[in-house]
Amino acid sequence: MRVVIKIGTSTLAYHTGHPNIRHIENFCKVVSDIKNSGYEIIIVSSGAVSMGRGQAGIERAGDSLSMKQALAAIGQCELMYTYDKYFGEYNHNVGQLLLTASNFSDPQQHKNLISTMNKLLELKAIPIINENDTVATQELKIGDNDTLAARVATSINADLMILLTDIDGLFTADPNKDPDAKLLSQVDEITPDIEAVAGGASSKVGTGGMATKIEAAKIATAEGVDMVIANGRNPDVLYDILEGKQVGTKFTGVKKK
Ligand code: GLU
Repeated sequence: MRVVIKIGTSTLAYHTGHPNIRHIENFCKVVSDIKNSGYEIIIVSSGAVSMGRGQAGIERAGDSLSMKQALAAIGQCELMYTYDKYFGEYNHNVGQLLLTASNFSDPQQHKNLISTMNKLLELKAIPIINENDTVATQELKIGDNDTLAARVATSINADLMILLTDIDGLFTADPNKDPDAKLLSQVDEITPDIEAVAGGASSKVGTGGMATKIEAAKIATAEGVDMVIANGRNPDVLYDILEGKQVGTKFTGVKKK
């Protein structure tokens, strides 16, 4: 079984931009164990800009594109160093892939990307993917790692995609503002109501970036890939998800005829 796991900045780093060692170490341990049991794992990891900020000692990245790109260059090293260190402790190799939109839109590049990823999996390595932030201009941008993870998952025919974030799943309203908000455990069809619940891009912060997660769910499920949104605070949820237990919100992939 092939599983794409996307892990977000808020799980990987503190607001200071320094790595959340407890979270990263636990995550790497659980993923290593799951991999040992026979799963193929592909990670899509955010955190480069934020960790670059921590490394460079800059409080805020601001709006300057070149600053963000420079910070991503620094932070990506820190990120991969950290993964290499913890996965190395459990005898797993990691391989870095930094992608841009053209790697998906250009058929030749897309084909190369798929064969490289398959080869990495054949070599039993863990591909760790991020957007190539240092060169991704507005036109070249995939934009966010939820979408990137969905494109990766459909490209390599993953069976499941898991988005680990800082919220338990998709709620009927913003749980930070509405005490009556309820967790939706399963979504079989992404209706306009579901999109409205996700709140659109404007409420990105309040709802834990749900708009991009719903977009990702659309891409993944349309190609038959199941997707789960779960809280990454405790990576043990990965065991539960793979055992089919009810965790977070599950979007069921459209079964191909
Ligand atoms: N590529 C960005 C980073 O590593 C994160 C983008 C995202 O989380 O959507 O900082």
